[in-house]
Amino acid sequence: MPLGKKTVNHYLNQQKELFGNQLYISSNTKSPETPINNNNTDLQQYYFDIKDCLECSLGFTRTNFVFGVGNPTADLVFVGEAPGHNEDLKGEPFVGRAGKLLDKILAAISLSRKDIYICNVIKCRPPENRNPSSKEIEKCRPYLDTQLKMIKPKAIIALGKIAANTLLENDLALKKMRGETFCYKGIDVIVTYHPAALLRNPNFKKPCWEDFKMIRKTYLKIK
Ligand code: URA
Repeated sequence: MPLGKKTVNHYLNQQKELFGNQLYISSNTKSPETPINNNNTDLQQYYFDIKDCLECSLGFTRTNFVFGVGNPTADLVFVGEAPGHNEDLKGEPFVGRAGKLLDKILAAISLSRKDIYICNVIKCRPPENRNPSSKEIEKCRPYLDTQLKMIKPKAIIALGKIAANTLLENDLALKKMRGETFCYKGIDVIVTYHPAALLRNPNFKKPCWEDFKMIRKTYLKIK
């Protein structure tokens, strides 16, 4: 889709603010032709509508816009924080070490990526994997909301504090949110650890397993 004059001006002004008069163009930017498995045409069209987003500065440093993958009519949507290095390169969420661990945990409750949908609160990688700012989260939130409206899941699994705080609009610690079912726009929300936290601290694996047993029960109840 060609960019409008307003978008180009907006881009150039933001570039100027960020980098002065030097125009920075990433040489390896490529948009995936289509987000994997998204054969829900509305969702697919939505990806094409938003993939060139320049609403915040992350749009100027990303390699790929990381929309989301999986079953576009899934009953369960997993929501992470933001793409990391590998996700940015591939244009797909949770493809690095944390993603591989997530796949193993899913397999342990007899689920795979075909059964669920996975996306992030933030669609572009924050440089150096810093936490997304509240401004970036607010700019990106409508994208997540629209994805949820199109997928219509029966439950959302928030992976980690940032995903949970964003969806539940609170500032609670993760341990205060685990083990309970919350609600976001009429959809049940279950909060658990981010898989990267398990890589950093294996002590979280046991409580995380308790959460996933609850997620399995929820899945069997709603499906
Ligand atoms: N961490 C996330 O929160 N999301 C990803 O896609 C990858 C790592």
